[in-house]
Amino acid sequence: MPLRFLPVTAQWYGRSWCFNMEGLHSGCKQCGARLTSDEKAIYMKLVCRTASRFLCLDCLSESLGCTRQALEERIRYYRESGNCVLFR
Ligand SMILES: [Zn+2]
Repeated sequence: MPLRFLPVTAQWYGRSWCFNMEGLHSGCKQCGARLTSDEKAIYMKLVCRTASRFLCLDCLSESLGCTRQALEERIRYYRESGNCVLFR
């Protein structure tokens, strides 16, 4: 498969996989909103680790049946715990 069709490149970084998401410019696959790296990371964490299209927090919370605030708290938790490679 040509490299340009692989929006997420992953490389072995120390003890864990590092996702390089710089090539990803697509917005939320539902509403098209611009996505932050946190939104992509929580989507990978909760939905699909190898996703190439993502949902914004509003659409993700709707599809998961929780509140946007719950997702924001979870992002903060992962970020502060410091042991998830997706949140840095
Ligand atoms: Zn959205």
